[in-house]
Amino acid sequence: MKILIATGNKHKFKEIVSILPRQTKTGEKLEYVSLDDVGGLKMPEENGSTLTENAEIKAIYAAKETNLPAISDDTGLEVEFLNGRPGVHTARYAGPRADADDNNRKLLGELEGLFLGKRAACFRTVACLATPQGKVVSFEGRLDGFIGFGYRGENGFGYDPLFIVQGTNKTLAEMTETQKNAVSHRGKAFAKLSEHLAILK
Ligand code: IMP
Repeated sequence: MKILIATGNKHKFKEIVSILPRQTKTGEKLEYVSLDDVGGLKMPEENGSTLTENAEIKAIYAAKETNLPAISDDTGLEVEFLNGRPGVHTARYAGPRADADDNNRKLLGELEGLFLGKRAACFRTVACLATPQGKVVSFEGRLDGFIGFGYRGENGFGYDPLFIVQGTNKTLAEMTETQKNAVSHRGKAFAKLSEHLAILK
């Protein structure tokens, strides 16, 4: 069975595929395809007011357009000192065309001068699976940690070089893909979704 992973972010695609099961409980093979594999489907704007709304908008649209079960996710970084910002605006934190570096620099700027105890933050991911028949399920995963004082590590993407995982002295960018998936917001949300995929008919 083909399953579409409806994200344009190649890092995210790879990370998600590495978490999901290769077959269903009845032994049917699951093949994961990207937006490029379905002719470069353009995704709708993420204009929901919650992560769940955004994840569902994308998955439902992709399933309808392609007639394939479609998976989508939406992630937000919530910084305690910023009263939960950037939250649902995490991708566009430093402006509509901001890249990861712009966002990370803005975040370091907003937290300048604060000691580690005041830099608590969490990542939340909502992962959604929608079928062309109209079924929709969503699962959430959360990771707690702190925003560090500068970039550390080369792996991952987005805010990973700044995000120090609680209970470790490592940023997400200092972890291997396997280590990140074992603790991360996305890892947890997709582990729950995996159980659902394994019984998909
Ligand atoms: P989205 O879920 O793709 O909309 O991601 C929202 C924003 O959060 C983007 O700026 C991503 O780069 C960032 N982001 C999403 N997931 C992660 C992650 O696992 N680590 C670091 N940054 C992330």
